[in-house]
Amino acid sequence: MQRTPRSAVNNDAIAADAECVLDRHVRERKLKASKVRMKLVRSIACMHGHFTAETLQGRLDASVRVSKATLYRTLGMMCECSLLISHEFGQGALFYESSLGHAHHDHLFCIGCRGITEFTSPSIEALQERVASESDFELTSHSLKLYGYCGACRRQRARETGAKL
Ligand SMILES: [Zn+2]
Ligand SMILES: [Zn+2]
Repeated sequence: MQRTPRSAVNNDAIAADAECVLDRHVRERKLKASKVRMKLVRSIACMHGHFTAETLQGRLDASVRVSKATLYRTLGMMCECSLLISHEFGQGALFYESSLGHAHHDHLFCIGCRGITEFTSPSIEALQERVASESDFELTSHSLKLYGYCGACRRQRARETGAKL
């Protein structure tokens, strides 16, 4: 298993792509997107890693600070047009990540600290294809989540309880 390499991404190009996609989405639905909303979309699309609506608020520039309602609406819109991928990890943990400039990967989710680790495994990918085709199933996408405790959480727990790892 290898970690997904974080490719060098061009933020300007990503921001422009995101604006283009959202603009089309908004026009098709005869909605309007304010200048601030567009700026918000550009900066969310360039975010690295995984974030919740709450952690996102703290990471946003003051110039794109909007109400919670607007933020949630914008996140919803960005999911509708696939600019964002949302991941439900249970316990009310809804994380988002930008889809632009990021290759497909799957996730390890720590139920202790809610930390997320990305991975890609060509053999798991191939196995999923095989399982699908054996069931005469055309695979269009998948989302694989592995749950457990990360090394840091296990070590902390061992220190607290004196238990062996
Ligand atoms: Zn952890
Ligand atoms: Zn991810």
